[in-house]
Amino acid sequence: MIATQEGQPAMIDCRTAALALYDFLDGHLADATMASVQHHVDFCAECAPHFDFARRIMALLPSSLPIDASTTALRARIVESLRAEGFQA
Ligand SMILES: [Zn+2]
Repeated sequence: MIATQEGQPAMIDCRTAALALYDFLDGHLADATMASVQHHVDFCAECAPHFDFARRIMALLPSSLPIDASTTALRARIVESLRAEGFQA
């Protein structure tokens, strides 16, 4: 769980941001959590390029695509490539 303070996004670490990456890009998080992740990416020089990379990849996928085995496999490959770049997910 991510604790939030009234009117201000919660500070989260890189690992939390990484774990929330795909739900964030899908817009599946609660508003407060979305704000926390956005806040982190805005200020974390380490995460910003990874989020940008993932966002580009996600943009290539049809949004209507159901979550099936191929999507899951693709996501696993993306996470793998992020890890290969040194991103702790
Ligand atoms: Zn970060």
